[in-house]
Amino acid sequence: MRVDHPREVRFRGMRGATTSSPALVVVEDPATGETIGALEHRVRYSPTGFNWGYDGAGPRDLARSLLAAVLTDEALCNACHGAAAACDTCRDGLRPDLPSSAFTSQVVARLGPDWTLHSRQVRAWWEDHRVTLGSDRTPGDSSGTDLDFGGRA
Ligand SMILES: [Zn+2]
Repeated sequence: MRVDHPREVRFRGMRGATTSSPALVVVEDPATGETIGALEHRVRYSPTGFNWGYDGAGPRDLARSLLAAVLTDEALCNACHGAAAACDTCRDGLRPDLPSSAFTSQVVARLGPDWTLHSRQVRAWWEDHRVTLGSDRTPGDSSGTDLDFGGRA
């Protein structure tokens, strides 16, 4: 049976051997466990790479990159549609109201050293939070999706 939604993928985060080693996030096919590639880093706060398990620059970039990878067109800036060059609305081609700080504190900051996250979990979080955008509710104020990340420390 063909499904009409974007391909389901699984993200896997791995720490290097030491705390100063780069943290790697790969995209996998959840059916086969095969690695499809590395998660594209949408650089905004942390040119040196991703991080997780706390709230900060590396985790913010991971949050934006995960949302961008899963939401694709929905995550793009309405003004430049992702081009970003000389855009007055955004700095990196992503919509300025992307709830990346809420996603960081509710999801990325809680990830364990090694973790997996399915694209449908990211999408479920988004479905739960985009309704709060543009209203007077604070994003992240919702009663919440209780995600099970499996790899939580
Ligand atoms: Zn833009």
